[in-house]
Amino acid sequence: MHEVSIAESLLDVAVDNCRQSGHTRINSIQVLIGKASGVMPEALLFAFDSMKEDTIARDATLDIVEVPLRGHCNVCGKDFEVEDRYVLACPNCGGLQYTVSSGRELTIAEMEVE
Ligand SMILES: [Zn+2]
Repeated sequence: MHEVSIAESLLDVAVDNCRQSGHTRINSIQVLIGKASGVMPEALLFAFDSMKEDTIARDATLDIVEVPLRGHCNVCGKDFEVEDRYVLACPNCGGLQYTVSSGRELTIAEMEVE
């Protein structure tokens, strides 16, 4: 399962950061997940919760913030935002030449440590 390896690397990064700053406990982690990243938030949450037990993040809550899929159309020149997990064409003009500007991220936005 895709989300298991993502949860694992999120934990690794979080634990490393926490130790490097001289802390011993992680209280919460906020992650930004783009709607087009292909990650299912529920599955990630489940994987994270089952993996955190033996780490300094055992009491940490994972706060998932979904980032909408946004892009810029090179045909009509407008920016757009879609509710779906993918974009096939510009919602304004149906143009096929567009640049996705957000929605693919998978990053730790914030951490609370002790
Ligand atoms: Zn367009």
